[in-house]
Amino acid sequence: MDCLFCKIVAGEIPSTKIYEDEYVYAFKDIDPQAPFHAIVIPKTHIKSAAEITAENSFLVAKVFEAIAKIAEQENLEKGFRVVNNCGEQGGQTVGHIHFHLLARRNLAWPPG
Ligand code: AMP
Ligand code: ZN
Repeated sequence: MDCLFCKIVAGEIPSTKIYEDEYVYAFKDIDPQAPFHAIVIPKTHIKSAAEITAENSFLVAKVFEAIAKIAEQENLEKGFRVVNNCGEQGGQTVGHIHFHLLARRNLAWPPG
């Protein structure tokens, strides 16, 4: 499948790994929007949040379990933000569901 993030999981495109387990892979965003900016993904291809079903929703839980571990590992005790962009108007540019994990600066709200 011609998917950038599937290729990153397969090691066909290089990435800077932050965390990995059976279900989840996390790596540094190539264009960081905060001093800490990771992309956290299920290893299984799911196109977007709009494709979450009763069968695959456990992978979202696995992503959030991983995020809690990464926050501990990376000492993000001051807080962080998790962002999912979904679809064209949601700002999604890569068609493999992913969660931005942003930290180490004050993050504006509302995000705009
Ligand atoms: P989104 O706009 O929500 O679809 O987010 C896609 C994110 O993937 C952007 O923040 C990009 O900077 C990031 N990205 C794109 N290609 C790569 C890559 N090869 N390695 C790491 N991050 C990437
Ligand atoms: Zn994919």
